[in-house]
Amino acid sequence: MSAGRPRLLFATTNKGKLRELRELVGDAVEVVSLADLPPVPEPEEDGDTFEANAVKKALEYARATGLPALADDSGLCVDALDGRPGVLSARYAEGDDKARYEKLLGELTGVPDDRRTASFRCALALAWPDGRTHVEEGRCEGRIGHAPRGAHGFGYDPVFVFPDTGRTMSELTSEEKSAVSHRGAAFRKMKPRLLAL
Ligand code: IMP
Repeated sequence: MSAGRPRLLFATTNKGKLRELRELVGDAVEVVSLADLPPVPEPEEDGDTFEANAVKKALEYARATGLPALADDSGLCVDALDGRPGVLSARYAEGDDKARYEKLLGELTGVPDDRRTASFRCALALAWPDGRTHVEEGRCEGRIGHAPRGAHGFGYDPVFVFPDTGRTMSELTSEEKSAVSHRGAAFRKMKPRLLAL
């Protein structure tokens, strides 16, 4: 820890997200993760929106630790499924990521390409121990393909296609992904607030 740098808790255990945030803020902020602190009870993600879940998580962690806290909530909204899986993306099917995207492909059987539109969404909330909050959102538009492709990323990335290039999110490197992703967009919008901590 270097003297004078503000400390920020990023309420995640995901190493990829942590690396992305540290790259964004550089040396200006000392970013700590949940793994660096004594255990704090995990808030339940029971909101109806990404924003509600992100704010709840950030506030609970800020109050529990006394540090400004950043939390995200994200997921995939598929138009032909009225926005599902949405906030339930991580719990859409039992099992692993593959089980979830296979269920999605199954639900979209017979749906033509022009009705397979979808967006990844991310809400990023910053909260202070005194209860103040600030939220930014990012979106990434695409379509659900017909079969998985690509080796990078996680979750629904192998079936999320960019119609202009035909590539899936899983075919992008992590740098290419953060330039176009919902999370990258939300992080970049939040950057001025983080540098002003
Ligand atoms: P979380 O907000 O990181 O917990 O993500 C919730 C769920 O949304 C994940 O388990 C994934 O299923 C899905 N998801 C969120 N962001 C992405 C992404 O960038 N690629 C693929 N799936 C994602």
